[in-house]
Order: sequence, then C-alpha cells, then structure tokens
Amino acid sequence: METIKEEVYKCSKCGLCQSVCPIYLATKNEMYLSRGRYIVLNNFFNNNKKISKKFINNLDICLNCNACKNFCPSNIDAKSIFTKLKNKYNYRYGIIPFSINYFFNLFIKSFKKKTPVVKRNKKISNYTKEKVLYFQGCVNRFVNSSDKNATLNILENLGYQVINVSNNCCGLPYLSDGNFKEFDRNSLKILKSIPPEIKYIVCSCDSCYKTLKNINTISDKLITLDELLSLNNYKIKTENNIVYHKPLSKKENSFINLPMINRKGSCSTMENFFLLKHPEFIEELIEKIFYKKEEIDNKTIITTCQLDKVGLKKGIKTINSNANLYSLAEYICLSDKDFQEK
Ligand code: SF4
Ligand code: SF4
Repeated sequence: METIKEEVYKCSKCGLCQSVCPIYLATKNEMYLSRGRYIVLNNFFNNNKKISKKFINNLDICLNCNACKNFCPSNIDAKSIFTKLKNKYNYRYGIIPFSINYFFNLFIKSFKKKTPVVKRNKKISNYTKEKVLYFQGCVNRFVNSSDKNATLNILENLGYQVINVSNNCCGLPYLSDGNFKEFDRNSLKILKSIPPEIKYIVCSCDSCYKTLKNINTISDKLITLDELLSLNNYKIKTENNIVYHKPLSKKENSFINLPMINRKGSCSTMENFFLLKHPEFIEELIEKIFYKKEEIDNKTIITTCQLDKVGLKKGIKTINSNANLYSLAEYICLSDKDFQEK
C-alpha cells in the first residue's frame, strides 16, 4: 500500500489526463478519471479511512489503456494502481457472469447467422518446418472461428505442423480484475498444456500475446502471426484503401507494412473487456471516441487483436459505416491465392 500511496501523492492535479482518457472524454465524469480517483484516494489515506467498496467497484470503469500514464508529467501508472487496489480489496467481476451474461447474450446474436469468412482448408501432410502450438484465444474459440481457420491455413501452408490448438484462456480477465492468484492458477494450466517439442506458440491476437508474455517460462516461444510471416519473408499485399488498426496491445515493432489509421484513445473500447462488462457505456464511448464515418468509409480495416475486432465491428455498425473489417489472417487468406485451398 505504501507504494500506491507514494504514486498517488505524485499527482499534481494538473488535469492533463482529462484530454486523453477515453472514459472521461465520453462521460465528463471526474470519478472515472485518474485525477479524480487520486484525489479521493488521498482523502482516504490522509484520514486513515478504509477504502470503500463502492470506490473499488468504480475502478472497473476504466479501459486499462494507460493513455493517462503516457500523458502524465508524473508518469503515474494508473493501470497498475487500479489493479493492485482491486487485488488488495478482492474485487471480482467474476468469470461466470462475464461469460454467461455478456459473451453469449450480447455477441452471439451478431455473429451466429453468418458463416465464417474463412473456412478451414484440407490439412496438408508435407510439413517442412517446426512443430508449433496455436493459441487461439477465447474470441476465436467461442465467438468467431474465421480468424482461427485462417491462421491454421496460413501456418500449414507455410509448412509448420500445428500439433495443438490451445483451448485455454490467456488470463486477461483475471489480470484486469487484479485477481493475480487466479491468473497464476490459469498460467499453470497453460504451462501443462504446452508440448515440450514445439518451437513456437503462435498468437493471432495481440491481447493474448501480451498477456501470455507475463508467463516467463514460455516467453521465448511466443510469437505473433505477423512476426512469423516476417520470419518467412512474407510481405502483406497492400492495396489502396487498406489500413491497419494497430491495437494498444501491439508491441512497437509491428511487422505489418500497411498504412496505419489514426486512433483516438482506446477506440475499440475493449481493454479490460469493457465492451462486454459495461455495455451501458458503449453507445456514448463509440459516439465520442470512435473513428468518424468519413475516416473509415470505403476502407478495409485490418487488425491483429481479436478483442479489438469485436469492438471495431460494433463501432462500424453504430456509425453506419460501409468499412470492411478483417483480421490479418483473414485478409491474407482472402487476398493471396497461395493461402487458398488448392
Ligand atoms: S496528468 Fe498525471 S499529474 Fe496531471 S492530473 Fe492527471 S494523473 Fe495527476
Ligand atoms: S487507464 Fe485509460 S480509461 Fe483508465 S483512467 Fe487512464 S486513460 Fe482513463
């Protein structure tokens, strides 16, 4: 708690975070802003009061994007403070209501009648490269299998033998709840499921990749699909009107040679699973911080985070844009004959 206090005391109340916090920009509510929270925390600390449950629950109204930290002259790490507090005060959004109430009710509707954009090709048998494990992530597993199909097609066409497709969750819901104990338990489960002979654990979702990087013992084997394509000297076909929506979770050295579209804050609203957990904020967030219709109309948007893809899909629909949206793997399978079924 002492380190949290020290961090919070660093806030000069300059208010610069107001200009970048997506939730504040959408709601104008200081209680959803890092500054407002630090003021209340100071009050708790200075008066030796116990931090209220209401305050802790309110911390979940945050995208965990850390845009405020990146803009803060005192470099205060809001995401770290909020998750540590959630951990200390046992905040639990809960994986069961999360999956049952929102995942299924909210999104299955928008995907269920559609066939996948990319279907699975027939398996090939002449593997020339190493054995790999594909970490598909929960979005691909439960909501939309098209990116999974496309990634498997690409890996096999490149010559990799996919000996396992992981059904595990990367643990991001636990991390965003500050539930470090459950995160560690989930990480052990992941570790047990990884065959020792594999060269790579391939992720087509940047959020899964970034979360799995917290598990030190597998860190060296993790690779994103775009990094693997680059290792194979593959260049993504660029055409007019194709833009890359770079997820916040994307590491800096992206291997994607597409023009990047500017983003405003955390425009997909998916950090901290916000779109699923707090749908009451979504319309406001999309209206205030999503791309403008004229920025994305007639464009094809590519992304490398499957969570972002769900948020982008919702945003595109809300602003009535005609933009097309694909994951990187889907785009490659649809645009490059080398990766289509022979
Ligand atoms: S930018 Fe940093 S120092 Fe300024 S008010 Fe926000 S949290 Fe405090
Ligand atoms: S982490 Fe993002 S959403 Fe949360 S307070 Fe900071 S800028 Fe706002």
